[in-house]
Amino acid sequence: MTQSFSELQLSPNLARAIGEMGYESMTPIQAQAIPVVLQGRDVMGAAQTGTGKTAAFSLPLLQRMLKHENASTSPARHPVRALVLLPTRELADQVADQIKQYAKYTQLRSTVVFGGMDMKPQTLELKKGVEVLVATPGRLLDHIEAKNCVLNQVEYVVLDEADRMLDIGFLPDLQRILSYLPKTRTTLLFSATFSPEIKRLASSYLQDPITIEVARSNATASTVEQHFYRVDDDDKRQTLKQIVKERGVTQAFVFVNSKLGCARLARSLEREGLKTTALHGDKSQDERLKALDAFKQGQVDLLVCTDVAARGLDIKDVPAVFNFDIPFNAEDYVHRIGRTGRAGASGLAVSFVSGKDTRLMADIEKLIGKKFELEALELEADKRPAGHFNDGQRAWRSGGDDEGRREIRQARESREPREDRRPARAPRPPADPLFDRPYEASTAPDAVPEWESTAKPASGRLSPNIKTRKKLPALFKAAAPVDNES
Ligand code: AMP
Repeated sequence: MTQSFSELQLSPNLARAIGEMGYESMTPIQAQAIPVVLQGRDVMGAAQTGTGKTAAFSLPLLQRMLKHENASTSPARHPVRALVLLPTRELADQVADQIKQYAKYTQLRSTVVFGGMDMKPQTLELKKGVEVLVATPGRLLDHIEAKNCVLNQVEYVVLDEADRMLDIGFLPDLQRILSYLPKTRTTLLFSATFSPEIKRLASSYLQDPITIEVARSNATASTVEQHFYRVDDDDKRQTLKQIVKERGVTQAFVFVNSKLGCARLARSLEREGLKTTALHGDKSQDERLKALDAFKQGQVDLLVCTDVAARGLDIKDVPAVFNFDIPFNAEDYVHRIGRTGRAGASGLAVSFVSGKDTRLMADIEKLIGKKFELEALELEADKRPAGHFNDGQRAWRSGGDDEGRREIRQARESREPREDRRPARAPRPPADPLFDRPYEASTAPDAVPEWESTAKPASGRLSPNIKTRKKLPALFKAAAPVDNES
């Protein structure tokens, strides 16, 4: 299998950009996907953010579009040829940013559109003409309806993070968008899992796809010191403060399972004098941006967040991660603690296990193949007025300018507000409480694919890999599971 970019015979302009980004060899998903996409085949790829999948689809896609490269100022000479769809603003912005960098020595144009931002600047960009359009589904439909973009010359479509798009309820929007595209095209679908829903989506819209799976690493870095403490819910806050103090933790992510819990915890830690900020879906885009920036700049010591709010954000290498709540999904544990102990640096991961969490802890042990001792921590009487961390101890600092800029871009709101959308859509129950403004489905697609009508009734729109928590009565009678976040 090809491992070096030089073996791909990419155009010198793409190769130059890759070289400048410091990529030496291909990641496994790139080694597998790039040659296949270069052949023009459809791909169904199982890979997550962080595996290098953006380059895996965008480099061959740009290479194949170079035949359309031109310096004309006429918008008509720059129709949308490639469409990349993603579920959230952060991811869309991140991917668009990478594509811009790969294409910077070519004359191919790219832009990104997502909700929560003024339509006008996006409209101007679209009207100038772009070859690569990165978008979240709702806002793209708005632009299509406003006739700001025409998709009848699209040759490539990428459905990235497809499982999350389905979880959020974007299926009707995706179907509508796909109905605007030419039938002859290359379709690439990337998803963290190949659930039955994803397989049905693929069988409806992909033609004879090559399946590529990159083994997901459930390994946790050996440089991360992992502790599980038995803590009653009421004592979690004090335990957190004590460990922060005793271990001299300078900065940390504190993960909670619900955005309500997130806001409450951040407020109470803040009241107790710890420099804390919260990151969750109820915050405005501006607030989230500021919160992230403050953390990045070291003005804030504790970033209390939910999994969804933190996902896709490229904040790496914090000294410690606290699982204030044990995640419902064991894989989230791996993602959470992967934020610390990177690149050989030592990291600390502390998890608070209350009585109801022992099963979740067992799931984690099973997933990562390691047994942990459930430790007890003696709480000291909280004598001190909790103070700020010692600035001199701060080990983690923001990276260079590039990283800072990326952070700000990634801080943008992760869901698409629907206020600017058409009215009169039936509200749907949210799959994730972070997206708690009811999702409003688009009007029914013209043609419902066969699989849709034969699909079993949705038992909620969660991915099957998200485990649900049963309410107590449900344990006694075979009742339906309830959503896993409150
Ligand atoms: P992605 O999974 O596409 O979000 O990529 C995650 C990160 O890996 C991004 O910061 C990319 O710039 C970086 N990256 C992608 N491909 C490579 C590569 N071949 N070598 C080194 N870094 C890479």
